[in-house]
Amino acid sequence: MNLNLVNRRKFIRLSAAAGAAIAVNPTGIQAAGNGTRKAEIPERVLGKTNIKVPILSMGVMRADNQAVVRAAYNSGIFLFDTAHGYQNGKNEEMLGEFFKGKKRESFILATKVKENQGNAAASRFIEKFEISMKRLKMDYVEILYYHALSRPEEVNFSPVVEAMVKLKKDGRVKYLGVSTHSNEPDVINAAIDNGNYDVVLTSCNFTQSHRAELNKALERAVNAGLGTVAMKTMAGGYLDKEHTRKVNVKAALKWAWQNPHIHTAIPGFTSFAELEECLDAAAHPELSEEEKAFLASASCKHGLYCQGCKSCIAQCPENLPIPDMMRAYMYNYGYKSPMLAKDTLLELNLQDNPCRKCVSCKVTCASGFRIAEKISDITRLQYVPDDFLV
Ligand code: SF4
Ligand code: SF4
Repeated sequence: MNLNLVNRRKFIRLSAAAGAAIAVNPTGIQAAGNGTRKAEIPERVLGKTNIKVPILSMGVMRADNQAVVRAAYNSGIFLFDTAHGYQNGKNEEMLGEFFKGKKRESFILATKVKENQGNAAASRFIEKFEISMKRLKMDYVEILYYHALSRPEEVNFSPVVEAMVKLKKDGRVKYLGVSTHSNEPDVINAAIDNGNYDVVLTSCNFTQSHRAELNKALERAVNAGLGTVAMKTMAGGYLDKEHTRKVNVKAALKWAWQNPHIHTAIPGFTSFAELEECLDAAAHPELSEEEKAFLASASCKHGLYCQGCKSCIAQCPENLPIPDMMRAYMYNYGYKSPMLAKDTLLELNLQDNPCRKCVSCKVTCASGFRIAEKISDITRLQYVPDDFLV
């Protein structure tokens, strides 16, 4: 029997049974559809936004099936996270279609805009934001992140920060945030000190070698009133390229939730089965013995996850954006999302065969990655036409 169909029926049943049970929390956000399921999932307050969110939210990034979004919405999840760049805009369009006509108070949308520093950065940022709003068919979004930051100077880049503050003043955005998957502690500390940000979205997983430092920054963020959202909790989904060692999804999520300074997590589930697994984990967030054993055996094994330490960049005579390339590698070989990997590569504007001038690779990676080999593997993807990819 088709597992997706089984789960789909289950969700339809759940949402029909809970049709009248719309729970309203003190912030005015209304949980959609299914009060029964929502009651099973612990909630935490997202910092100064005062929004009480279930510890499980949805990273929509790789999802291309409205039915999975519907199932998540009907199960009580109400924070949906997308980005301007995901699926070339189709991800935002899909969410816009799904939420068209739905009660605006029944969901929270977070989107992200990436923009390099430089002349006209603020106007390009605003232009991208307006495109995102059209795709989402919204007058406003709850959270707008300045996306993929890795340096305090980026967090404080005043043209973009001022443009974001104006969007907030104009009511186009309720809360401002930064997202980071590299050098996270410094980025989070800079966001706290900047004073304009309300939420941080950070990589957070059991393989991070700098997790003690990250925890300190998260604790400081929470004490300063910021909301904290965890991403990349699955550390690539697999510990190896060959897919012989799958990450234990429930253990990975529960590991993040054990940290009281994480308010919600946005795993990127793409099927009913994966959603169900995440919901089960959220409903029973205490770690089982088996999950503890997985974490003990897998933590500190870097697998496909780049730590984002950036120690490689200065070693490379070509100054290649190696951490971003390694992220693309993880998207392709871990998450099996070649389209996302290709989009990530294209944003980097790489030259053909970026390692062509080197006879041997001069980089020693803190995670033991064979960098040149991985670069040669992943950069081929830039030239594959989209219609060959999923
Ligand atoms: S040295 Fe290795 S782990 Fe650190 S950022 Fe570079 S690729 Fe990632
Ligand atoms: S081979 Fe290594 S050192 Fe040379 S450009 Fe590629 S990553 Fe940099």
